[in-house]
Amino acid sequence: MRQAGLLLMIVAFVFASPVLIPVAMVLHTRDQRRMEAAAGKARCKHCGAILGTASLRRADAAWAAHVAALRHDRPGIRFRLVRRLWAICVTCDAEYGYDAALGVFPRIREPRASRPTV
Ligand SMILES: [Zn+2]
Repeated sequence: MRQAGLLLMIVAFVFASPVLIPVAMVLHTRDQRRMEAAAGKARCKHCGAILGTASLRRADAAWAAHVAALRHDRPGIRFRLVRRLWAICVTCDAEYGYDAALGVFPRIREPRASRPTV
C-alpha cells in the first residue's frame, strides 16, 4: 500500500512537472528582481551608500564560501541551513538580511572593522 502511494506521487510529479518547474522558475526570477529593486533603493544604515546589486553579489559569494567551508570541515554531513545574509555593503562591509514581505534589508551586523581613512 505504501509503495502504491509513492508510485502515485511519482507519476503525479512527472505529469505535473512541465507546469510546476516553469512556474517555480518564474516565481524565483520575480523574487530575485524584487530583491534587486529593493536593494537599488535601500541605503546602508552605517555609511548611507546605496546597497545595489553589487552588495547582493557580495553576499552570494560570502554565503557560498560559508557553505563550502562547512562542507569541507564536516564531509558527509547533510546541513539544513537558513540563509540570513542577503547583502553586504560594498563600502563599509555592514551585513544585511532581507525581509521579502516588506522588501527591506534589516542590518544583522555592523562593519567588522572600520577602514582606515586616506
Ligand atoms: Zn555601508
